[in-house]
Amino acid sequence: MIRVKNLKKTFGSNPVLRGVDLTVDKSEVVVIMGPSGSGKSTFLRCLTYLEEPNEGLIQIGPHELHTGGKLDRKRKKEIREMRKKTGFVFQSFNLFPNKTAIENVMEGPMTINGVKAAEAKELAESLLNKVGLGDRCDHYPVQLSGGQQQRVAIARALSLNPTVMLYDEPTSALDPELVREVLQVIKELAEEGMTMVIVTHEMNFARDVADRVIFMDDGYIVEQGTPQEIFDHPKEERTNQFPMMTK
Ligand code: ATP
Ligand code: MG
Repeated sequence: MIRVKNLKKTFGSNPVLRGVDLTVDKSEVVVIMGPSGSGKSTFLRCLTYLEEPNEGLIQIGPHELHTGGKLDRKRKKEIREMRKKTGFVFQSFNLFPNKTAIENVMEGPMTINGVKAAEAKELAESLLNKVGLGDRCDHYPVQLSGGQQQRVAIARALSLNPTVMLYDEPTSALDPELVREVLQVIKELAEEGMTMVIVTHEMNFARDVADRVIFMDDGYIVEQGTPQEIFDHPKEERTNQFPMMTK
């Protein structure tokens, strides 16, 4: 479903991704961990071309991109198609503040896929129901808790019917008591077979939901394996030293 080969990204003279290889199967849930500045966010952002990689191959579903060259019309179109199929959930919820929950979810289908308002409304209602917010459709973001806003953001990401979902620390801006409701929604999506890559420090969640845990450091994937392998028997010293591992 996702295939990345030798992905490289440099900011100025700072090499942030030094050649990342990753394959994610359909319905697989991959959790990425690693120290601050190791390149986790940059990796997710490069996957969707929110940052332009310098080099490497990215394949998401049927879309394949050899990155690094000039962005001509054909490649720009391929990037747009790829993005439509990739739901992205950020640490900060990034909702439109002047739109209600349901309007936030309707926006993508209407503007990107040309879906009519009535149909988009029905879709948005069912997605908000799915994330447990059926009774909050007409609330504005300021009237929602952080956990509720993040669940709206997840519903919005689902609205274009993505084949993969990427999350960048989806719960790290939330008060502890709100973390669980967001992770529960992500877990339900995993159980339905959604392919997902999740950057998170929530180790219990990773143990529970991840098929595979990846440990990144300094622009590389240092180690990967099942949650048990990575948390209980890390092979690499750098993984072992990561504070999460001692909890
Ligand atoms: P964190 O756990 O703190 O979120 P991270 O693993 O997500 O860290 P990145 O945000 O990917 O790390 O950053 C990796 C490196 O790239 C850092 O050194 C950062 O300063 C640098 N970097 C990220 N984005 C940019 C940018 N737009 N311009 C310049 N440097 C950047
Ligand atoms: Mg980050």
